[in-house]
Amino acid sequence: MENSDTGDGFTAHHIFRNPTRIQAYTYDDIILMPGHMSTSATDISLHSKISRKIRLKVPILSSPMDTVTEHEMAIAMALQGGIGVIHYNMTIDEQQNEVRQVKKYKNGFITDPACLSPKDKIKDLLVLKENCGFSGVPITEDGKIGSKLVGIVTNRDIDFIEDKETLLGDIMTSKLVTAPAEVSLSEANDLLRKAKKGKLPVVSTDGKLVALISRTDLKKSRDFPDASKDSKAQLLVAASIGTRPDDRNRAKALVEAGVDVIVIDSSQGDSVFQLDLIKHLKSTYPTLQVIGGNVVTARQAYHLIQAGADGLRIGMGSGSICTTQEVCAVGRAQATAIFNTSTLANKFGVPVIADGGISSTGHIVKALSVGA
Ligand code: NAD
Repeated sequence: MENSDTGDGFTAHHIFRNPTRIQAYTYDDIILMPGHMSTSATDISLHSKISRKIRLKVPILSSPMDTVTEHEMAIAMALQGGIGVIHYNMTIDEQQNEVRQVKKYKNGFITDPACLSPKDKIKDLLVLKENCGFSGVPITEDGKIGSKLVGIVTNRDIDFIEDKETLLGDIMTSKLVTAPAEVSLSEANDLLRKAKKGKLPVVSTDGKLVALISRTDLKKSRDFPDASKDSKAQLLVAASIGTRPDDRNRAKALVEAGVDVIVIDSSQGDSVFQLDLIKHLKSTYPTLQVIGGNVVTARQAYHLIQAGADGLRIGMGSGSICTTQEVCAVGRAQATAIFNTSTLANKFGVPVIADGGISSTGHIVKALSVGA
């Protein structure tokens, strides 16, 4: 029996498309009618697409805002099954590096360990220890990751040496237990236990340091069964760009760094600048997923889909710090915006992302229910 037959509420179509009503609805204007429950909550899957080709187990993205998403947040989001969008309020090189940090992340592996060279002195190690609190530092030929590993210096090597000018090359331990680059976390765990060491350097076949594994981190490391990963088991990451001419160079750098999704970040997505940019990105990098936005109407959504967008970001003026509706007198109530754009975009297999205005978990449920 339909709810409408019993007087128990209305379908979304009835609410949002009722020609006799001229209202638009925010999340707080609607409430979901409970139905009949036939399964346990843990059996419910929230797997959702965020673009034509990318499906997440947890349908949550962190925003491309400079107070929200850089590599630490993007890693945390991807480990939990979501994805982070790195903001672009930084240089192209910096943003490229942020993306690289996420792509090379390996749970339990330190992929950018602080290193020193044999020509550095005990006093340099003490400064590093003071700033970062490390107890064991790998020594490489030029003092950087990616160069040949020649030793390791731990507290035990320096404890009784008075002369802080002593070169690390003279006191480092150079007979090392190392692991090959393809080592798994559990193999590394066994190696560390057998060798009774605190640190395990991971080296390439030609002896270059590629990562470090620490016993204390291993003890803390957990499994992340929902993690969002690509076909090479690297974490997924998105990054945003604008629509200025130089943003094409930014996109190129991000693609080189291995970005999975580019989000075009604009308050008014249906612009000639964005349509041209989407066409450029889709023809230059056919496998790259491109999310366009922001838009709030079916007509705007149609333009971005026609240009080739793989996903859409919906919301104008609904974010908590957004003043577009006050300043520019444009925008739309968010629940109506999602329903209208998703109804159209669904026909083209393009998912929509509800961006802004979520201030409680109930709002997430409402956003998903009306089409996000
Ligand atoms: P934007 O870069 O899209 O637009 C800024 C101005 O530059 C606009 O006048 C635009 O027409 C112009 N412009 C853009 N590309 C151009 C080109 N190639 N040539 C000439 N002119 C061009 O940025 P924005 O809309 O101000 O948004 C900035 C940030 O603020 C984004 O992160 C956006 O998501 C956020 N924001 C969001 C909302 C919202 O309601 N969702 C509202 C305001 C701001």
